[in-house]
Amino acid sequence: SCWRSAACTPGCMKRSSAGTQRTPNNPTRKDLAPMGTLYIVPTPIGNLEDITLRALRILREASLIAAEDTRTTRKLLSRYEISTPLTSYHEHNKLAKLDTIFDALALGDVALVSDAGTPGISDPGYELIQEALARGIPVVPLPGPSAVTAALVASGLPTDRFLFVGFLPRKAAALRAALQELAPLRATLIAYESPNRLVATLEAARDVLGDRPAVVARELSKLHEDFQRGTISKLIDHFRENEPRGEITLLFGGAVENDSSEPWDEQRVRRALADRLAQGEPRSSAARAVAEASGWNRREVYNLSLD
Ligand code: SAM
Repeated sequence: SCWRSAACTPGCMKRSSAGTQRTPNNPTRKDLAPMGTLYIVPTPIGNLEDITLRALRILREASLIAAEDTRTTRKLLSRYEISTPLTSYHEHNKLAKLDTIFDALALGDVALVSDAGTPGISDPGYELIQEALARGIPVVPLPGPSAVTAALVASGLPTDRFLFVGFLPRKAAALRAALQELAPLRATLIAYESPNRLVATLEAARDVLGDRPAVVARELSKLHEDFQRGTISKLIDHFRENEPRGEITLLFGGAVENDSSEPWDEQRVRRALADRLAQGEPRSSAARAVAEASGWNRREVYNLSLD
């Protein structure tokens, strides 16, 4: 049976008493004052139909909605005639707002939403969720839209192992360094990217990762949804011809076994080495990392670093 809260009615499942979550048999605070649940509520990433029945119910029944941008969330709520009070919770007030949100949680449930997709995924949420867990407040995630999973499942790239890296660095040297770290991984790589940086990121990726399979998923769930699938070079050609617009999720195939058995050519090794040295990495560790990724001997790579 359900130990608390109006929001826990149809479809409510008994919460496990694992971890630090507070349950009837496992209170983590001495006082047994009523305490709400923090619900993490995904919202549509483009198509307003992509909201679940459960998300609508939680948004309606919560005593407060903490929203990244209250104006954006108000539009969604008004479409479904939901009038729950809103407070802002965004990148610039996410620490200052904790008290307000925990005061509300002492009295009832709070729903956390971002502008689009799943809160906490390249969106505010992490600090609030950590603090709620530390205070023994139940944290309940609702499954729902996120660009990362929508892009992955339709990309045609392997889905059994993937790494989401959020937004890659903007500056050229930091971008190359980040790509160097990702280069040897076997997992499909997924990043969020802005349209005006797409071609530069693809060019850096072709240099550092090699010309692998890649996919650009654009405007997911919207009228002009578009998937471009091919090699990185093919995508560079396509987006030089067709200026990228809209929201973009970028995916790269992971390193394949052949990559490590086929040594890199000297130019690629030199470039990888130069990138690491430019980041201030010591020669010995740069040589070791590049040797591992390239199939070259560490001493040979080290000697190149002295040229
Ligand atoms: N929390 C969101 C989620 O779960 O997907 C992501 C928020 S992040 C600030 C926004 C980025 O996600 C966009 O810049 C874009 O890279 C990606 N994105 C969001 N909506 C998208 C869509 N409809 N199609 C493709 N990518 C999208």
